[in-house]
Parts: sequence; C-alpha cells; structure tokens
Amino acid sequence: EVLEIPVNTLITKLISNGIMANLNQEIDFETAYIIAEEMGITLEKIEEIDEIEVIESDLDYEDDEKDLKPRPPIVTVMGHVDHGKTSLLDAIRNTNITDGEAGGITQHIGASEIVINDKIITFLDTPGHEAFTSMRSRGAQVTDIAILVVAADDGIMPQTIEAINHARAAEVPIIVAINKIDKQNANVDRVKQELAEQGLLTEDWGGSTISVEVSALKRIGIDELLEMVLLVAELEELKANPNRLAVGTIIEARLDKGRGPVATVLIAKGTLNKGDFVLTGTSYGKIRAMVNSKGRRITTATPSTPVEITGLSEVPEAGEILYSVEDEKMAKDLAEKRRQKIKDESNKGTARVSLEDLFSRIQEGEIQDLNLIVKADVKGSIEAIKQSLEKLSIEEVNVKTIHGGVGGINETDIMLASASNAIVIGFNVRPTNSAIELAKRENVDIRTYSVIYSAIEDIEAAVKGMLAPEF
Ligand code: GDP
Repeated sequence: EVLEIPVNTLITKLISNGIMANLNQEIDFETAYIIAEEMGITLEKIEEIDEIEVIESDLDYEDDEKDLKPRPPIVTVMGHVDHGKTSLLDAIRNTNITDGEAGGITQHIGASEIVINDKIITFLDTPGHEAFTSMRSRGAQVTDIAILVVAADDGIMPQTIEAINHARAAEVPIIVAINKIDKQNANVDRVKQELAEQGLLTEDWGGSTISVEVSALKRIGIDELLEMVLLVAELEELKANPNRLAVGTIIEARLDKGRGPVATVLIAKGTLNKGDFVLTGTSYGKIRAMVNSKGRRITTATPSTPVEITGLSEVPEAGEILYSVEDEKMAKDLAEKRRQKIKDESNKGTARVSLEDLFSRIQEGEIQDLNLIVKADVKGSIEAIKQSLEKLSIEEVNVKTIHGGVGGINETDIMLASASNAIVIGFNVRPTNSAIELAKRENVDIRTYSVIYSAIEDIEAAVKGMLAPEF
C-alpha cells in the first residue's frame, strides 16, 4: 500500500531474489531494503520507539526562550561529616524567621524557602552528596548551586573531596563556606591552601571560587553567604517557564496514616495547582491539597517551589519525575502502562512460590532464588529487613529483595511479585483490599509482620523446611 504497487509485483520480485514469499510473510529489514532499492526506493530504519518515553518527552517539552522567567536557585549543602552542614542549614533557617512567623512551626517537607533581600532561595533539607547523586542517577538534577562546608579547624577531608567531585560531575557551581571560624584553632588560610590543591582557587587568592567565612554556631557570616548564593544564581541566569503544565521532581515521599500518600515535589517548570491531575512513576491522582515549607496551605506552586502534595494513589519514589497532565484518564492510563512495563521487564517467573512449599521446591532444585518484595512504613526498616533476610541465604537458595518501598502493599507490588515469583513482606503496613483480591487471583503469598524478628524466623524456617502451616 505504501509503495503503491500491486502485491503480485512485490511477490514476484521477492521470488526472483530467492525468497518464496506469500502474502502474509514477514521479511527482515536487509531483504526489504534490497528489494526496495531495486525499485528505486530507499528504506530508512526507524528505531523502535518506547510509547511511554514519547509521552514523557511530550509532557516535558522544551520551552521557547521568550517564555522563560527568572526562578529562585535550588541549593544543596555538602561537605565532610561533622563539618557543620546541619548546623549551617539550621542557622540559615533561623536567621530567616520573620516577626510574623516567630514561634510558628516550620514544616519539614524536605526543602525550605529562605527569603533574603526580597529574593527567594530554596534549600534542600537533606545535606550531603549521596542524596544529591542518587537523585541524579535517576535522571533528576534538582540542584543549581552547592554550598561546600569545610570546617576551618579540620580542613579538606575525604568526603569534602567526594562532594567536590560530585558537584563537578553535575556541573553545579560551588560556593565554599569555611565554617567554625569561631574556634580557636580555626585556620582559614590552610583551608584555602587545601582548596587550591583541589583546583578551587578562592577569589582573594586570584581564583574564581567564592568563599565565605562563617560560624554556623555563632551565626556569623550567614547573610553574606546567602548574598553570595544570590549573586551566583544571577550569573547562572536560572530560568523556567511558569505558564505551562508543571513538571517537577519528587524529593520525599511517605505514607501518612490519615492523609494517605504524601509527597514533596520540587517544581522544575510550569505551575502546579490544587486540583491538577498528576502522574509520577506508577502513582497518579488529583492534587487534593498543597502545603509549602512554612506549613501554609497554598493553591499554586511556581518553578523552584517545594510543595507537599496529597491525593496520589500510592507513595512515589524520591527522584521520580512528576508531570501534570490534562485529565485523570491520561494519568491513569500512563500509570497503568508503566506498571505493565515493570511487569514485562521482570517477567521471568516460573510457578508462584509460597513460604509453605518453598522447602520442597528448594529440595527439588526448582528454586534457587527466594525473591522478596519488602514494604514498610518507614524507609529505615526496609534496609534493616532487607539485610537481615538476605543473610538467611543458604547454599541451595539465595534470598534477595527485588523491590523495597515505603507504604501499604498495593496492586503494583502484587503484579511485580506475580511477575517475578516473589513473596511480599509487609512490615507495619497492610495490603489494600484490592491488593488482597489480586493476590488471591495471582496466587501471591503476602506476609505481614510488626516485629522484624518474626519475619526472620518465618523465612528461616521456610528455607530450612520447618515452617508450621498457617491456619
Ligand atoms: P554535619 O555532620 O556536617 O551535619 O555537622 P553538624 O552540623 O552536625 O555539626 C557537627 C558539630 O560541629 C556539632 O557539634 C556542632 O555543634 C558543631 N559546629 C557546627 N558548626 C559550628 C561552628 O560554626 N562553630 C563551632 N564551634 N562548632 C560548630
């Protein structure tokens, strides 16, 4: 049809080339190319396209230069342990409490907005380069400027160098805060010498690295540091289009007993509104409420603003991109496609496993891997459970956690368990009703615990063939 030639002509051509083709035959690209060439047509191979990626890049389209407006800088504080990162963040937040807010509670949502000289600076509350890089590894760059804290009494240490390298890899400008200058053994010159050795030549030494001497403890130099952040931000010409559907990054997420999934989004472009339909990972929904870093309810959030949102169907992962979409159906469809993709990707399962029949199947050599999906109420528990359970691996069977997440056990977990022949472990969380239904249909074993030890005991017993049947 595309070539606008009769089928028979094409079949004859193929046969004359030694391919006994019929009407419904598939031929490979090389053959098609040669045949087409003979007919004076050049074929071009189109790479297989990923539908989800196409939709995402449609949602995350580039803006016209003329639509871009200045936006606040987003800053991460980095440096060696005990050099004063947390203290510096506290000092910054405290100098910024205006009279009206004094005594008010600053909400912990994962990022704070600081106002200086009528300009806003957004600070990420989690200091250190680990969080910064783990986001980046997921494709989200949420930092514009890094403040590198170096204690004047200690100088450049291994994590200082790591932080410098991580900031450089991300091409994020560095402002050095030489901290603890109140200390008697503070040696600012030595710090500058060591910075120079790392290729960070400070301005007073003839270089271009901005450095500010501060004391987080005594609140010295904080305003100057913030002014330097604004100066660098200005040079960076940070801009975004506020007039479009929002795109942002999830920087924190958790399950709240009363409010359900709660997530903090840092807006990258566009404006997020209460009532917007959003999609992030396999989670979607309509934004029910938005709270800013001062704990106030707001209805719109512009670029570089951190906001805590509620209304999502499940707890998303930090680092996941959030998109505003036109309508709920689109959000739901795309979430479903993502879910399917995750399932396809991990689809190498055999018959479903359960703790009851685990031992006999290990004995029969049918199972070499005991795959687990661990869901818990807080992130810390996931790691603890994961490590304890994986230690139970024996020669015959390897216990491994294929997925860990915060929040109740939902249908996605069951689908993943079903696809990868895993058992779902819930710690202080329960399956939703629809997850229970689905688990029944898919024969997925769900086990919930409130004591880590009980989980360890069960898995150990199952691995060793001593599990008492569950009634
Ligand atoms: P982090 O590990 O980098 O987050 O460091 P912290 O903020 O927890 O600080 C480590 C220790 O250094 C704490 O005991 C702080 O009280 C102390 N500290 C932080 N900043 C200063 C400072 O400017 N002067 C002095 N003397 N001590 C400080």
